[in-house]
Amino acid sequence: MQFIDLAAQQRRIRDGIEERIRRVLDHGQYVMGPEVRELEERLADYVGVKHALSCASGTDALLLALMARGVGPGDAILTTPFTFMATAEVIALLGAVPVFVDIEPMTFNLDPACLERAVTALRSRNAALSPLPRPALESPLRPRGIIAVDLFGVPAEYDAIQAVADQHDLFVIQDAAQSFGAERYGQKACGMTSIGCTSFFPAKPLGAYGDGGMCFTDDAGLDDCMRSLRIHGQGHDKYDNVRIGINGRLDTIQAAILLVKLGIFTEEVELRQEAAQRYTDLILRHGAPVEPPRLPEGIVSAWAQYSVLARDGAHRAELLNRLKEASIPSAIYYPKPLHLQTAFKELGHEPGTFPVSESCARRIFSLPMHPYLTAPDQEKVIKALARH
Ligand SMILES: *Cc1c(COP(=O)(O)O)cnc(C)c1O
Repeated sequence: MQFIDLAAQQRRIRDGIEERIRRVLDHGQYVMGPEVRELEERLADYVGVKHALSCASGTDALLLALMARGVGPGDAILTTPFTFMATAEVIALLGAVPVFVDIEPMTFNLDPACLERAVTALRSRNAALSPLPRPALESPLRPRGIIAVDLFGVPAEYDAIQAVADQHDLFVIQDAAQSFGAERYGQKACGMTSIGCTSFFPAKPLGAYGDGGMCFTDDAGLDDCMRSLRIHGQGHDKYDNVRIGINGRLDTIQAAILLVKLGIFTEEVELRQEAAQRYTDLILRHGAPVEPPRLPEGIVSAWAQYSVLARDGAHRAELLNRLKEASIPSAIYYPKPLHLQTAFKELGHEPGTFPVSESCARRIFSLPMHPYLTAPDQEKVIKALARH
């Protein structure tokens, strides 16, 4: 059994992939070839936004979004500590300070109530209201924006997050690296805030055969700026540079591969819904000793992961061992919240600072999840967990 079975998917689409790659080899435009624009147009339509701009990774998508917002030293960006490194890394890379905000325990996403307190704490430099990073206590930081993450494929609570943002004049970026294909009250992920960012890393819901990413926006000005930033801050022609940018393009071959995968993507999102529902039914039927994921109203998850909670750290170790003995792969996303990572030690956060994130980091683990998971395999997984 595979944790994510990319080979099963490849068997379905191999001929189409070979044909599309052959066309790229024939025309030879390996950088910014016609497939790149075609993919951008198809994905803008899919999400329902005006502009989609491809780039080299999900990390670059977040970086371009922050750069287009002019984020730099002296700025504070609020985000969750329970996410992949890239979310907060891009903030620090630009010289700004990540201000972490604890999560809501049902969805593992940014808790809007904590977010409101954190903005107030930051403005008044009062860490009694909400934990603040050391740089925010040493000198005033300007709260500029929020990066909300749709962890495991579940869109964050954007109405409440946007309300806090509007009240304090902050922008919101959606880190939809795990939620491409998800919906919130009918709106597709990547279209829920001023800029949506996603990743095409192979294991993500829509994955390439290498790195890739995309930014989505309805704002023509932001789109123009990110297009320029993506190619060394270029102006009207190749050797006119109007700002400092990056080399952040998506390869034509990856765009070609993604166009083929897009052809089966809607069906795959549907298959993920069925697999997730089967897991939840099996957990209840077999009395497996874990908390299955629960979705808020109005949400369709992209089910990047099917993550469950054990009672505590020792219980998780025991359950992971049961899976291992049955040769079932599993993973822990994420064992260490970002505020406790060595890379962020300058922020001065101690264990206990964000208790919900830390408790989830001790208890959470993910089961094999992909569109081609079979019912008998899922039964095997849950029976292994339920063994007494
Ligand atoms: C994967 C991921 C990223 C980064 O995407 P890459 O394409 O690997 O650079 C950012 N945020 C989250 C939440 C992710 O899961």
